Amino acid sequence: MSPARHYDVIVIRTGQGGPPLATALAQAGRKTAISEREHVGGACINEGCTPTKTMVARENITQIFVYLRIAAVLFVLVSFVPAWIRKRNQR
Ligand SMILES: Cc1cc2nc3c(=O)[nH]c(=O)nc-3n(C[C@H](O)[C@H](O)[C@H](O)COP(=O)(O)OP(=O)(O)OC[C@H]3O[C@@H](n4cnc5c(N)ncnc54)[C@H](O)[C@@H]3O)c2cc1C
Repeated sequence: MSPARHYDVIVIRTGQGGPPLATALAQAGRKTAISEREHVGGACINEGCTPTKTMVARENITQIFVYLRIAAVLFVLVSFVPAWIRKRNQR
């Protein structure tokens, strides 16, 4: 069994408030521990704000490529098909 550890403060949760509070306490000279039960950093960086914004940005970029592909197909149709039809009718 590991020896008991003693702290002045134990900060529970590492979401928005925990890390700045623990840092400030440690900088003030308190022997500080921080406790997290799941993802260090909390919901925002692990499953909330950052991943959501990344997914939205990725979806927007995918959509741009879909539109570009459609535009390319339309460009080919408008540019080459009328000439091909004219050539075919002249035979
Ligand atoms: C899908 C989604 C998208 C979001 N997008 C945005 C956005 O774009 N902009 C925005 O401002 N906000 C957004 N939010 C909200 C934002 O994520 C939350 O407001 C913010 O994370 C809350 O911070 P918090 O520190 O209160 O809690 P949390 O981030 O939930 O952190 C709490 C932490 O404490 C831990 N914990 C809990 N109990 C214990 C315990 N007993 N012992 C040890 N650890 C414990 C948890 O595991 C967790 O890691 C979004 C949320 C979601 C779900």
